Amino acid sequence: MAEYNNKPDNEGTVKKANFIHTQITEDLKAGKNEKRVHTRFPPEPNGYLHIGHAKSICLNFGIAEKFGGKTNLRFDDTNPSKEETEYVESIKEDVRWLGFDWEDRLYFASDYFEKLHDFAIKLIKDGKAYVDDQDAETISNQKGTPTRPGFESPCRTRSVEENLDLFARMTNGEFDEGSCVLRAKIDMASPNMHMRDPIIYRIMKAHHHRTGDKWCVYPMYDFAHGQSDYWEGITHSICTLEFEVHRPLYDWFIDQLQETDYRPRQIEFARLNLNYTVMSKRKLLELVKDKHVNGWDDPRMPTISGLRRRGYTPESIRNFSDRIGVTKVDGVIDVTLLEHSVKEHLNRTAQRVMGVINPLKVVITNYPENQSEELDAVNNPEDASMGSRKVPFSKELYIERDDFMEDPPRKFFRLGPGREVRLRYAYFVTCNDVIKDANGNITELHCTYDPASKGGNSPDGRKVKATLHWVSAKHAIKSEVRMYDRLFRDENPDGHKDRDFKEFLNPDSLKLLNDCYLEPFVQGAKTLDHFQFERLGYFNVDPDSTDEKPVFNRTVQLRDSWAKQQNKKQ
Ligand code: ATP
Ligand code: MG
Repeated sequence: MAEYNNKPDNEGTVKKANFIHTQITEDLKAGKNEKRVHTRFPPEPNGYLHIGHAKSICLNFGIAEKFGGKTNLRFDDTNPSKEETEYVESIKEDVRWLGFDWEDRLYFASDYFEKLHDFAIKLIKDGKAYVDDQDAETISNQKGTPTRPGFESPCRTRSVEENLDLFARMTNGEFDEGSCVLRAKIDMASPNMHMRDPIIYRIMKAHHHRTGDKWCVYPMYDFAHGQSDYWEGITHSICTLEFEVHRPLYDWFIDQLQETDYRPRQIEFARLNLNYTVMSKRKLLELVKDKHVNGWDDPRMPTISGLRRRGYTPESIRNFSDRIGVTKVDGVIDVTLLEHSVKEHLNRTAQRVMGVINPLKVVITNYPENQSEELDAVNNPEDASMGSRKVPFSKELYIERDDFMEDPPRKFFRLGPGREVRLRYAYFVTCNDVIKDANGNITELHCTYDPASKGGNSPDGRKVKATLHWVSAKHAIKSEVRMYDRLFRDENPDGHKDRDFKEFLNPDSLKLLNDCYLEPFVQGAKTLDHFQFERLGYFNVDPDSTDEKPVFNRTVQLRDSWAKQQNKKQ
């Protein structure tokens, strides 16, 4: 189990050593790679990055920071049919936004297509690769199983000359897609299935986002990845556990290159899984394509762009990533820890304002018509340097409908007929009349205020049981507020046999509130600016927002279920 009780330092960062750091420290002590540390983040540009990728980004760039090394950004763009420039651009934006810099080291696996092709020809010449023109099913059936060896393809004994000729013709586009492949000649009886003559080149007559129509053959990911690391001088190739079994193959390829003794050291770690979340790009793409969400950056998505739009900060994601740590064992992290991380950061940094999202009008009957005044309000009780602001007060106000009950039960301490409460930073008010429409719905409350309680201070030591937030009706900024709940109502939407993950979508994951009133301070706020709406949660300005129609997203509610669980455990 990862430990979660690391307290953040003054900047709010939690730094924790992990087993990868230990291994790198050992390599440095042993003087490996001239004591260089060089990592890379290698996304395939076939979708937007998600929070799992953020873990990998923080890990790779974090290692470079810690050891004074470098990190490359390398796009593994070996599959032209699924890759798009839009994804490349979004990935660059997300890495930068998280606060990391690859400087001038932006690479593409496609940069190495020429070199990889040359290497394939070398393998053929060395008798270590052959063209196989059996159909895919036959090749797959010959592969055997983990417990039963495969058997050799009849094409395995082709002469070097014939293989060179066939590969040249594959490259020239003379053959149809799927009609033949180039395979490495390794060992059909190897206990490691990946070593049983893996395919290294296939024919694809597709347009590539960078090389255009130049190539009719493309290297397989497994053939490109290790060599790309090698040619870039990567010292530590950090990847997720499923690649552990590919490691002997990567080493075999580099052994055949016969260039130098240097080898990138591959270190595997457990991928991040979050409950209530699906993380595979294929499934996220399905949600986007089938319009279950409004695009990759929908604030309900676990994508980095979705989290950004939702109001997550780079600091909170980096902190989350440090907190969950790095392990060798697959596990599931509670999504409330991610929510806790953003709450913790915004609690320290977000401007407080008052906003009413479900309004009920209040008329202060003894307050002069046409008068208004400005009251002092604290901007952030956690940070005195953020100062204070003025909040306008006048005869007509809005309070939250939930803060009033006509017939309050015993434990409801907020406003009711005849009761007195404090309006935050303003006055004590008492409810005298409840006004209703013809259908019996409450339309407004008539209250009186005590002028002697200015600032919300008791004039004579008398106590009230509740403090409510409010806004002055004529000064308020009418806004739309988007309230989010989890996208899935099941803890493990992916984990049900014979049931599609989409069956577990939460139909109430988005609620639009169109009649919300905010304190005038929010006027002019820019996209992604953060606020705490007192008592309601943290909110930010959505990119859809305009001066005419401000739009806010609720990032997260105030109640911290993760902290609560931790307190219970202690
Ligand atoms: P997905 O399975 O979600 O589609 P992927 O692994 O195919 O993701 P890549 O673009 O190949 O996505 O991943 C780039 C890097 O991010 C890889 O090094 C991969 O190991 C890492 N990565 C992907 N998903 C996770 C995750 N959930 N946790 C940690 N690292 C991840
Ligand atoms: Mg992948």
